[in-house]
Amino acid sequence: MTFKCFRANGIKNFLNLTGLVSLDAAKPRKLVDEILELGDEIFGSGAVETIKECLQCGRCTGSCPSGRVTALRTRKVFLLSLLNLRERLLSADELWLCTTCYTCYERCPRKVKTTDIIRIVRNIAAREGYMADAHKRVAALAIKTGHAVPIDEATREQRRKLGLTEVPPTTQTHEAALKELQEIVRMTGFDKLVGFDWAKMDV
Ligand code: SF4
Ligand code: SF4
Repeated sequence: MTFKCFRANGIKNFLNLTGLVSLDAAKPRKLVDEILELGDEIFGSGAVETIKECLQCGRCTGSCPSGRVTALRTRKVFLLSLLNLRERLLSADELWLCTTCYTCYERCPRKVKTTDIIRIVRNIAAREGYMADAHKRVAALAIKTGHAVPIDEATREQRRKLGLTEVPPTTQTHEAALKELQEIVRMTGFDKLVGFDWAKMDV
């Protein structure tokens, strides 16, 4: 195996040539299929095909500001996807530690759509009931107020000082718009996905 060959063909050839994993035995690579399918739906046809080009160089992990202080290892997301270690990846707490800063996306030498792929894997994980509690709480705020980060007293004060209206013209002042948003939440089943309780207006 030459390095050139490894670079040219990515992780698929690496696994075949080293014999670490029999790709035939690993078929069907269901998680990758799911990722590609959802990627087509969300980002357009073939948008995340690049996951197959990951060569596990680790530049994404080395660039990740979250990974410096947490257990998030960006390249592991792609490796577990390619190895079809579905439950291990979908149930991993660290999957939710990505801040979607896109640093890894910009630095990947193979132009793997890293952050978009992580977002897709999270979507799949959420459908399987693995959404992190912190994300559910943010979703609850968005459903309740229309904002993931609703206005607080400090921001109100800043706005007053700047001569602005105390509350911006958003769902926080337009009740009809908030009702519309909540209707969309009901129609799409997002409330059920995050476990939102309409009586408590919280998760
Ligand atoms: S930087 Fe790109 S090629 Fe390297 S491990 Fe990360 S996703 Fe794979
Ligand atoms: S997008 Fe996520 S995984 Fe990539 S560098 Fe930023 S925090 Fe890390």
